[in-house]
Amino acid sequence: MLVDNHGRPLRYLRLGVTERCNLRCFYCMPEEGLAWSAKNQLLSYEEMLRLVTILAGLGIDKVRLTGGEPFVRKDLVYFMRELKAIKGIKQLSITTNGTAPVETIAQMKALGIHAVNLSLDSLNPERFARITRRNEFDKVWSYFEELMNQGLRTKINAVVMEEHNLEDILPMVALTEKHSVSVRFIEEMPFNGGSKGYQKIKWNYEKILHHILNKHPQALRLDDHSSSTSYNYKVPGYAGSFGVIPAYSRAICATCDRIRITPKGELKTCLYQNGGFSFRDYMRAGATDKDLQAKFREHFGRRAKNGFEAEQNKEQSASFESMATIGG
Ligand code: SAM
Repeated sequence: MLVDNHGRPLRYLRLGVTERCNLRCFYCMPEEGLAWSAKNQLLSYEEMLRLVTILAGLGIDKVRLTGGEPFVRKDLVYFMRELKAIKGIKQLSITTNGTAPVETIAQMKALGIHAVNLSLDSLNPERFARITRRNEFDKVWSYFEELMNQGLRTKINAVVMEEHNLEDILPMVALTEKHSVSVRFIEEMPFNGGSKGYQKIKWNYEKILHHILNKHPQALRLDDHSSSTSYNYKVPGYAGSFGVIPAYSRAICATCDRIRITPKGELKTCLYQNGGFSFRDYMRAGATDKDLQAKFREHFGRRAKNGFEAEQNKEQSASFESMATIGG
């Protein structure tokens, strides 16, 4: 069992499989993209499988694939199959922007993928295009419809941004009337890879909730599971639910059970940490499985208590990375 120095057990790995993305969401990266790493700087699938096997031996039983856009990496479905076969991994999920061919949904269903998080910041094609700098709304909407048709457990993640998509908040809650989907509104964080200046957010989770509860005062608070990152609600009679994620307010750190491994193989014990120990270099220098286990324990033995402490530890001059290089 991997437990950090604050007594929090680690259970959940977020694995970034690529930094690349076919969208250019302005809050995530600059229009021209990022300085993409060369292929040999990224972990190979074999290296990722080795790390996941080690982590499964330490009690990690949930894995979520992310990036960048995971489906941009070649042979992703093959990789998912290999991950599913690792002893101890009980749940494999993915976060995607929904631009991959819809056939991937049936493939994931056949593999027994636990859940799909679909990132969708607007239900309006023009606003979607302004935010993502790409005209892909129709494709993403078809992906959503197919997820619903195939009955895959689905969450929609929407980053809430003043002057960009406040008009979408209530229509997204309305989407949960007929669809069995959980819509989660996320506070914008500073991880934009230098895309734009970051102003302190005006729409924090409390304000978002207030806005929704004004319209739906009868919404019921749901029981969140112990390490949930969201506060969840349901409008009585609706098929789905909605929630808010205090990603910037960092109200959820006390129960954080997450490990992040970036596409380049850096370990992040906290999202707000700058840089991270390179498991890629350590493995390539010949570390044994025992060495790798010990390294995970060492780093979680001095984990920041919360995202504020992690941010404080970062050099003031260091700029914020993109969520795509961190593995959002
Ligand atoms: N490409 C995949 C997708 O779109 O879901 C996975 C990677 S993406 C970086 C993962 C999530 O991070 C998305 O839901 C995205 O909206 C969110 N994200 C990216 N930058 C963010 C930021 N600065 N603040 C809050 N959320 C952010």
